[in-house]
Amino acid sequence: MIDILKRKLLIRYALILFGVSLFIFCGGYAAYRIISKNVIFSSLYDYLQEEIFEFRQNADALSVKPERVAVAARNNALHFFSYGFLNGKMLRLEQPEGDAGNQLTEKVSRWDKPDGKITVIKVKSNGQRWRFLALSESWTDEENGRNYQVVALLNITPYIYITHRYKSYGLVVVCVLCLLSLLAASLLANNAVKPIAEAYRRQKEFVSDASHELKTPLSVLLTYTEILQKQPQNKTALQVMRDETKNMSDLVENLLALTRLENIKKITGQEQNVSKILFPLTEQLNAVHHQRTEPATAVCPENITVKMAEQHLKRLLTILLDNAFKYTPEDKKIKVCVSTDEHKTKITVTDEGIGIKADDLPHIFERFYRVDKGRNRQKGGFGLGLSLAQDIVQKYQGQIKVKSQEGKGTSFIVLLPH
Ligand code: ADP
Repeated sequence: MIDILKRKLLIRYALILFGVSLFIFCGGYAAYRIISKNVIFSSLYDYLQEEIFEFRQNADALSVKPERVAVAARNNALHFFSYGFLNGKMLRLEQPEGDAGNQLTEKVSRWDKPDGKITVIKVKSNGQRWRFLALSESWTDEENGRNYQVVALLNITPYIYITHRYKSYGLVVVCVLCLLSLLAASLLANNAVKPIAEAYRRQKEFVSDASHELKTPLSVLLTYTEILQKQPQNKTALQVMRDETKNMSDLVENLLALTRLENIKKITGQEQNVSKILFPLTEQLNAVHHQRTEPATAVCPENITVKMAEQHLKRLLTILLDNAFKYTPEDKKIKVCVSTDEHKTKITVTDEGIGIKADDLPHIFERFYRVDKGRNRQKGGFGLGLSLAQDIVQKYQGQIKVKSQEGKGTSFIVLLPH
């Protein structure tokens, strides 16, 4: 599933990135073409004006003695040429050397293009292509009844060749863009998928752990149902079934609570008086564990409040107190202390129980983590309590910390903002 998502994202990102970079590249190229075209056109206009001026100055002399100049133009240099006409007769010509020049002169001598409009003249000579931009202007000398015309030309063959070469460079650039887009897309897709993959892995792990935990009580129930079928009066079987059903119901309740909290980012609850929840709860648990010689005690000033949903505060205290009862011998102390300062309310649950090994401490808030799996099952623990407690505290922007010494006892400290 994650792989399919990754592939889809990769294709989408690659297409977007490639499209954007291609658009930028083509835009840049179009801008370059427009700018260079404008530069060429304006220099051609300037040249035409110069040639007109010169032709006007020399028109009389040229009408007596026409001029023909051959310019050693190559197809790899930007050369200007000009042709001058008087009453339709070519008086002055400047042309590239050789056959290309003759062909050009032949074409210009039949000049019929409108004045002021740039046209392209194509010539092919000895297997080489030539391109010329041509621009003409005509005027009449009313006094003498003379019609003049000047055609200015620019050999743009090298420009065309360079453009052709750039086309192949362009292809290389497009390939490079394609590769870079793929690379960037794969990085982006990987980054986007990482948290989803992590959440998916955790979800799978959670479902598999939960199913595993439910399997044991279900098989116990099945076994004892069979025993009951044979011995309907078996009271032990009934008691075991009752305990296992209670365990399963606790597990399902915790799973539901965890799942509900998962979808919430932050909770802001209403003011709760801590003592009103803590004292009855301690009493209730002491009543359940009436065999203890050392009942749990609670110290909490009556005015202390926390902003928390009642059910969450109750569940948090129950988890911490339940654990203290589970892991503290009957003759050892369990104490809850609640205090407050201007920023935080502090709830400390301290016991003189079995404590937690330093190696286990970093893991106890992980889901389904139990220090001693065998013993915990007997005590009804699934390793979900502290994980749920931490989730609750964090949703209220609080902190939960633990201090423990093996064989001496454990303290859970909860800090909740006002
Ligand atoms: P469980 O429901 O199994 O108690 P928790 O998530 O509440 O699961 O606790 C995780 C583990 O942390 C327990 O298996 C237990 O070994 C240890 N633990 C929690 N509280 C205490 C405590 N007060 N004293 C000693 N060990 C504790």
